Amino acid sequence: MKANGPIPPFFESTRDGQLCIGGKAAGDWMGEGDAPMFAYARPVIEEKIAQFRADMPERLRLHYAVKANPYRPLLDFMASRVDGFDLASRGELSRVEGIDLPLSMAGPGKSDADLHAAILAGVTIHLESEGEADRALAVAEQVGMTPKLAVRVNPPFALKGAGMKMGGLSSQFGVDAERVPALVTSLIERGADWQGYHLYAGSQSLSADAIVESQRESLKLVVEITNATGEMPSEVNLGGGFGIPYFPGDEPLDTKVVGEALENEFNTLSDDFAKTRLMLELGRWLVGEAGVYLTRVIDRNVSHGRTYLVTDGGLQHMLAASGNFGQLLRRNYPVANATRFAAEATEEASVVGRLCTPLDLLADEIMLPKTEVGDVIAIFCAGAYGLTASPNGFLSQPMAGEALTD
Ligand SMILES: *Cc1c(COP(=O)(O)O)cnc(C)c1O
Repeated sequence: MKANGPIPPFFESTRDGQLCIGGKAAGDWMGEGDAPMFAYARPVIEEKIAQFRADMPERLRLHYAVKANPYRPLLDFMASRVDGFDLASRGELSRVEGIDLPLSMAGPGKSDADLHAAILAGVTIHLESEGEADRALAVAEQVGMTPKLAVRVNPPFALKGAGMKMGGLSSQFGVDAERVPALVTSLIERGADWQGYHLYAGSQSLSADAIVESQRESLKLVVEITNATGEMPSEVNLGGGFGIPYFPGDEPLDTKVVGEALENEFNTLSDDFAKTRLMLELGRWLVGEAGVYLTRVIDRNVSHGRTYLVTDGGLQHMLAASGNFGQLLRRNYPVANATRFAAEATEEASVVGRLCTPLDLLADEIMLPKTEVGDVIAIFCAGAYGLTASPNGFLSQPMAGEALTD
């Protein structure tokens, strides 16, 4: 037997013992046929946003990183609750069409067409290099507009203990800190509407201390660069990195500790920064725990004493649960039998998808209630980096459905 990940504490059972999502039994969200689906529970997102607002300094703005989950009904809901969206591509810009919020766009390899679309839409471009700065200014000149530009700083430190470190190393993300003052001076000289700085040191950290340290280092670096340029930034985006518990033993991030430390840091900033907009950009922490991937058991196959529950889903929808989305070591996501959510776990089984690869393993040797063909399996923590972070085209299986639930 292997350990199951911790089921997020937001979900209950229906009266007949099924997993309840948005007032309905999980299986009732699935239509006819063999297409799995993602249910995103809006009240969970609401709770996370309320926690952020309660624990973080009042001054701190909250941006949503669209790439975590770009499902349009979810974006429309987020738009009513957050202070801005961070985009990672021109495709994401088209997904947010008609939404009236401050937008920024980060990410390496922005093409001239990307820059053109962003400038026309009034998006703040987080410049990843000097070359991108030159091209953004050239594109802006062609269309006769003043571009809103910020500089992504490749910080000389990384977020410790993060699932994915970005910073402290050579990287394709951002401009090395020592070259930033010269770039900022030149952007202003060349007539850009320079906005400020963007720092992003890593993702999926559950350590408040590590996040506090990286935020402190980030602010210190911004002050140093500001001293070097003599130019006050209108905006400083401190990144994010807030993680959620996925695996056995993971504990939730203590956002109170982060908020108190950040408030102290803000209080040490000089009055010159009084008008600077300070923000975090979060994806996973806001929406990850709200999502449940639901897939039906099509077959049971017993081989050499091990039971395989073969479902109509797989890693083509939920790559991360298979352990193939950046994890060093495969561990089980939180998984349950949604049809028998309240039942005791009595059998050991592995949950697999229907791709022709042993990598398509959604849960490895976990304890579940005795599971029958037709039961629905729930994979939790599927609200971020789920469907759009998976190789949907592989084997041409049916696409998963999606719903934002009450
Ligand atoms: C992916 C990304 C985010 C969001 O990260 P989460 O771990 O989902 O919070 C924020 N900012 C940048 C620059 C990113 O690339």
